[in-house]
Amino acid sequence: MENCIFCKIITGQIPATKFYEDDDMVIISDIDPKAKYHYLLLLKEHFPTLEAMTAKQGEKLAVALKKLPELAEKLHLEGGYRLVINQGEDAGQTVPHLHVHILAGQKMGWQPA
Ligand code: AMP
Ligand code: ZN
Repeated sequence: MENCIFCKIITGQIPATKFYEDDDMVIISDIDPKAKYHYLLLLKEHFPTLEAMTAKQGEKLAVALKKLPELAEKLHLEGGYRLVINQGEDAGQTVPHLHVHILAGQKMGWQPA
Protein backbone atom coordinates (compact mmCIF):
# COMPACT_ATOMS: atom_id res chain seq x y z
CA MET A 1 0.00 0.00 0.00
CA GLU A 2 1.41 3.34 -1.07
CA ASN A 3 2.22 5.79 1.72
CA CYS A 4 2.07 3.15 4.44
CA ILE A 5 5.15 3.36 6.64
CA PHE A 6 4.98 -0.32 7.58
CA CYS A 7 4.61 -1.45 3.97
CA LYS A 8 7.70 0.64 3.21
CA ILE A 9 9.58 -1.07 6.04
CA ILE A 10 8.45 -4.48 4.78
CA THR A 11 9.69 -3.72 1.26
CA GLY A 12 12.94 -2.16 2.50
CA GLN A 13 12.20 1.40 1.39
CA ILE A 14 12.50 2.55 5.00
CA PRO A 15 15.21 1.00 7.18
CA ALA A 16 14.31 -0.92 10.33
CA THR A 17 15.95 -3.47 12.56
CA LYS A 18 14.43 -6.77 11.48
CA PHE A 19 14.69 -9.59 14.02
CA TYR A 20 12.74 -12.17 12.08
CA GLU A 21 11.25 -12.45 8.63
CA ASP A 22 9.40 -15.11 6.69
CA ASP A 23 6.99 -15.16 3.75
CA ASP A 24 4.10 -13.69 5.73
CA MET A 25 5.49 -11.53 8.52
CA VAL A 26 8.36 -9.48 9.84
CA ILE A 27 9.31 -8.57 13.39
CA ILE A 28 11.02 -5.21 13.87
CA SER A 29 11.97 -3.14 16.88
CA ASP A 30 9.66 -0.25 17.74
CA ILE A 31 11.34 3.10 17.10
CA ASP A 32 9.89 4.53 20.33
CA PRO A 33 10.06 1.69 22.86
CA LYS A 34 7.51 1.55 25.69
CA ALA A 35 9.25 -1.38 27.39
CA LYS A 36 12.79 -2.71 27.78
CA TYR A 37 12.14 -4.83 24.69
CA HIS A 38 9.49 -3.57 22.31
CA TYR A 39 8.91 -5.17 18.93
CA LEU A 40 6.25 -4.90 16.26
CA LEU A 41 4.96 -7.96 14.48
CA LEU A 42 3.85 -6.88 11.00
CA LEU A 43 1.97 -9.12 8.61
CA LYS A 44 3.25 -8.43 5.12
CA GLU A 45 -0.24 -8.02 3.68
CA HIS A 46 -1.62 -4.54 4.21
CA PHE A 47 -4.94 -4.24 6.03
CA PRO A 48 -5.76 -1.62 8.63
CA THR A 49 -7.73 -3.30 11.40
CA LEU A 50 -9.35 -6.54 12.49
CA GLU A 51 -12.56 -5.46 10.76
CA ALA A 52 -10.76 -5.56 7.44
CA MET A 53 -8.99 -8.87 8.12
CA THR A 54 -9.95 -11.89 6.02
CA ALA A 55 -10.13 -15.38 7.49
CA LYS A 56 -6.96 -16.28 5.57
CA GLN A 57 -5.14 -13.28 7.01
CA GLY A 58 -6.42 -14.29 10.44
CA GLU A 59 -4.81 -17.69 9.95
CA LYS A 60 -1.55 -16.02 9.01
CA LEU A 61 -1.73 -13.89 12.14
CA ALA A 62 -2.25 -17.00 14.27
CA VAL A 63 0.67 -18.76 12.59
CA ALA A 64 2.82 -15.67 13.15
CA LEU A 65 1.95 -15.54 16.85
CA LYS A 66 2.69 -19.25 17.17
CA LYS A 67 6.28 -18.49 16.11
CA LEU A 68 6.92 -16.34 19.17
CA PRO A 69 7.75 -19.21 21.57
CA GLU A 70 10.40 -20.36 19.07
CA LEU A 71 11.85 -16.84 19.01
CA ALA A 72 11.70 -16.36 22.79
CA GLU A 73 15.43 -16.53 23.40
CA LYS A 74 16.37 -14.28 20.49
CA LEU A 75 13.78 -11.66 21.47
CA HIS A 76 14.34 -11.86 25.26
CA LEU A 77 10.82 -13.11 25.85
CA GLU A 78 11.67 -15.89 28.30
CA GLY A 79 10.37 -14.00 31.33
CA GLY A 80 6.99 -13.37 29.71
CA TYR A 81 5.63 -10.81 27.35
CA ARG A 82 2.59 -8.77 26.56
CA LEU A 83 0.87 -8.60 23.17
CA VAL A 84 -1.05 -5.44 22.30
CA ILE A 85 -3.10 -4.53 19.25
CA ASN A 86 -4.16 -0.91 19.23
CA GLN A 87 -7.34 -1.33 17.27
CA GLY A 88 -8.70 1.90 15.88
CA GLU A 89 -8.50 5.55 16.76
CA ASP A 90 -9.85 5.39 20.31
CA ALA A 91 -7.15 2.83 21.15
CA GLY A 92 -4.45 5.18 19.88
CA GLN A 93 -3.72 3.30 16.66
CA THR A 94 -1.48 5.59 14.65
CA VAL A 95 -0.40 3.32 11.80
CA PRO A 96 -3.31 1.81 9.85
CA HIS A 97 -1.49 -1.43 8.99
CA LEU A 98 -2.47 -4.09 11.51
CA HIS A 99 0.42 -4.87 13.85
CA VAL A 100 0.98 -6.55 17.17
CA HIS A 101 3.15 -4.90 19.80
CA ILE A 102 5.35 -7.33 21.70
CA LEU A 103 6.46 -5.90 25.04
CA ALA A 104 8.94 -7.66 27.27
CA GLY A 105 11.43 -7.02 30.01
CA GLN A 106 10.87 -5.60 33.44
CA LYS A 107 9.02 -2.46 32.44
CA MET A 108 5.96 -3.43 30.46
CA GLY A 109 3.94 -0.35 31.21
CA TRP A 110 1.75 0.88 28.41
CA GLN A 111 0.69 4.48 28.27
CA PRO A 112 -1.58 5.12 25.32
CA ALA A 113 -1.20 8.55 23.78
P1 AMP B 1 0.13 2.11 17.06
O1 AMP B 1 -0.14 3.26 17.99
O2 AMP B 1 -0.32 0.80 17.62
O3 AMP B 1 -0.38 2.37 15.66
O4 AMP B 1 1.70 1.98 17.03
C1 AMP B 1 2.50 2.38 15.99
C2 AMP B 1 3.90 2.14 16.48
O5 AMP B 1 4.78 2.23 15.39
C3 AMP B 1 4.38 3.13 17.54
O6 AMP B 1 4.73 2.43 18.73
C4 AMP B 1 5.60 3.78 16.89
O7 AMP B 1 6.63 4.03 17.81
C5 AMP B 1 5.99 2.75 15.86
N1 AMP B 1 6.71 3.27 14.70
C6 AMP B 1 6.36 4.33 13.93
N2 AMP B 1 7.27 4.49 12.94
C7 AMP B 1 8.18 3.50 13.08
C8 AMP B 1 9.35 3.13 12.36
N3 AMP B 1 9.77 3.82 11.27
N4 AMP B 1 10.06 2.07 12.80
C9 AMP B 1 9.65 1.37 13.87
N5 AMP B 1 8.56 1.66 14.58
C10 AMP B 1 7.83 2.72 14.20
ZN1 ZN C 1 0.81 -1.19 5.02
